[in-house]
Amino acid sequence: MSVVVQKFGGSSLADLERLGRVADLVMRTRRAGHDVVVVVSAMGKATDALLTLAREAARVPGETGGSEPSRRELDMLVSTGERVSMALLSIAIRARGGDAVSLTGSQSGIFTNDRHFDARIIEVRPFRVEDELARGRIVIVAGYQGMSYRREITTLGRGGSDTTAVALAAALGAERCEIYSDVDGVYTADPRSVEDARHLPELDYATMQEMAEAGAKVLNARAVEWAEKSRIVIAARRTSDFATDGGGRETRVVPATFGRAPWTVIGAQKLALLRAAGAPQAVLAAAVEAALPLRDFTLDDGALTATISLLNAPDLARFRALAEDSPFTLEADLGQVSLVGVGVGDEPGLVARACAALPEAPRWLVASPLRLSAIVAAPAVPAAERAWHAAFVRGGA
Ligand code: ASP
Ligand code: MG
Repeated sequence: MSVVVQKFGGSSLADLERLGRVADLVMRTRRAGHDVVVVVSAMGKATDALLTLAREAARVPGETGGSEPSRRELDMLVSTGERVSMALLSIAIRARGGDAVSLTGSQSGIFTNDRHFDARIIEVRPFRVEDELARGRIVIVAGYQGMSYRREITTLGRGGSDTTAVALAAALGAERCEIYSDVDGVYTADPRSVEDARHLPELDYATMQEMAEAGAKVLNARAVEWAEKSRIVIAARRTSDFATDGGGRETRVVPATFGRAPWTVIGAQKLALLRAAGAPQAVLAAAVEAALPLRDFTLDDGALTATISLLNAPDLARFRALAEDSPFTLEADLGQVSLVGVGVGDEPGLVARACAALPEAPRWLVASPLRLSAIVAAPAVPAAERAWHAAFVRGGA
């Protein structure tokens, strides 16, 4: 029987009513004759709530500053979010007459490196999942988590359940990997900020990965990277469209598409800009020590500039303490707007036109073959998305 992997995001599991609709959808897929593996995220904003608790627990009354929670303990904590979802979904499926079993990441054979809170999957040995499928069961797997070779529980970075789903799909030789969320796929821009964004029925891996790395939220970048390596086709769908028989549209992420994909615009929040003019070596060493995910890194005449996504950087205070003696500035409360597509990086004159189109002057601008990104103040991101979409995408690039 063909294996289908279905992943459901937090918004599709936010309450028991929605979770019940997911149970119905999974049951229908099973009745259509597939072996079904379901990967779940934590319910609603459960991961954020757990992280807030951790920060509060790390505060000692009467002391200022305080420490940051250890990354290992953060993993022990946030990995529970997905366990709640997996057990409840399994219970709901059983209540509907299905035969389901829930498994944690480690039970599912997801092995990772030991970088806590931002681990990478090294290998998947899904024997237990295969055994349960052979028994005719629907297998529900807790996304976003795995186990290091030292038998420590790890998590895969925010949004990491997508990666669990694709890695499992690859290891099981699945027919496809369906990623369900509250949007029906990928658009030329986020339709919540850009009204006339167009839906994209198909995208190639390279473009999708660049979009995800620039901050597109529909799919996780590492999941796309894994899909490309193993040639797994991803279908991004809206849960509510498929909860009833009607179905709906989707974005398929495939090895290659016919014709040239349109350019897209992506906004991202929670970004910081790091600059170190004097002694970048010490600042760099501190960044490595605190496992800061530096991106778009330039070293120009001894001056270092890089962006940091604050989503997967729990050790910011530690970094500040380590780099204390070196001159650096770390500006938070920033966002980024990116133009992504084939040819963006080598289009002559694009940088000047892109700057002119922005509502305010960018703090920093970086270009790569597939992308042009401008760092702007966080509140300016939506207007910048609209401006670039109008200038470079709307009429077709
Ligand atoms: N629950 C985790 C997060 O919110 C993982 C995921 O949603 O994929 O980041
Ligand atoms: Mg989540």
